[in-house]
Amino acid sequence: MIVLGIESTAHTFGVSVIDNRKVLSNIIDAYKTKSGGIIPYKASLHHVRVCKTVINKALDKAGADFSDIGLVSFSQSPGIGNCLKIGAAAARSISIVHDIPIIGVNHCIAHLEIANMLTDCKDPVLLYASGANTQIIAYEGGKYRIFGETLDNGIGNMLDSFARFIGLGFPGGPKIEKLAKKSNNYIEIPYVVKGMDVSFGGILTNLKNKVSSKKYKVEDLAFSLQETVFAMLMEVSERAMAHCNKNELVLGGGVACNKRLQQMAKIMCKERDAKCYIPENQFLVDNAAMIAWLGLIKYKAGNRMKLSETYIKPYVRTDDVLVNWR
Ligand code: AMP
Ligand code: MG
Repeated sequence: MIVLGIESTAHTFGVSVIDNRKVLSNIIDAYKTKSGGIIPYKASLHHVRVCKTVINKALDKAGADFSDIGLVSFSQSPGIGNCLKIGAAAARSISIVHDIPIIGVNHCIAHLEIANMLTDCKDPVLLYASGANTQIIAYEGGKYRIFGETLDNGIGNMLDSFARFIGLGFPGGPKIEKLAKKSNNYIEIPYVVKGMDVSFGGILTNLKNKVSSKKYKVEDLAFSLQETVFAMLMEVSERAMAHCNKNELVLGGGVACNKRLQQMAKIMCKERDAKCYIPENQFLVDNAAMIAWLGLIKYKAGNRMKLSETYIKPYVRTDDVLVNWR
């Protein structure tokens, strides 16, 4: 079955065409700012501006047209309302005009399910580290449950805030990574794990104060920041694996593109005789292939959605989702 997926939870407008497990196209157009973070209505204007081009590019690259598409899948939850609305409206329009079934899916769960499509993992723990989200998710007792999460900022947003503070611009994560490579000098900063949760707000304040004091080199701070926050993520991921008795770890989210985070995850998994799965970057960042795939497996499990049920759900939590496709 050929599925067209649409992603629009935040800065990224993405469209993908998949044929069962084969990704025929996976096109991304992300809203970027020179300064400041995501302004919701501006991001939605971006999505409106690019949606037609991105849809056409995805169809062209896949060598498909609307008559080939058997299902339209879109990200229905969670995300920024303004942005979700554009993807949902595009999906509804395609569904109505071309008389194609439509299905809405949960973005966070899609980050986990795509690993099941791309790799041979069976029942992993997902470390989902993105701009807005930081969650440790696993399937237990009939649901995708959150075993640990950030109590304040998403890790990516925190890296971006720090990068902005030292004048590196957005997105800051890759720039911090580059800067951190220039140092091997660890400077103590707070390490904040509370039970299974993490918190980044205090770390950011501490770093900003260190920058303002002018006593430290920024590369040393970037290095120490990465070492500390990634170690925090490893601690809670490992504990979730131990609690749930699972021996597979999957990485997801834009921050998972970071090579030092990937290296730490591989070391942790090796030490506990577990497998570490890291999809290629195009499937780590927000993308529509994962949305198409989750739509497909939900549809195959018998799920159907009326047009009246396609309203967006910005605040749905991962553990609110009824899972009937496993
Ligand atoms: P997402 O929300 O999943 O699309 O991911 C976007 C976030 O990933 C932004 O906060 C980026 O700064 C961050 N990011 C992307 N590449 C890297 C990297 N190599 N290291 C750290 N963070 C990154
Ligand atoms: Mg995401």
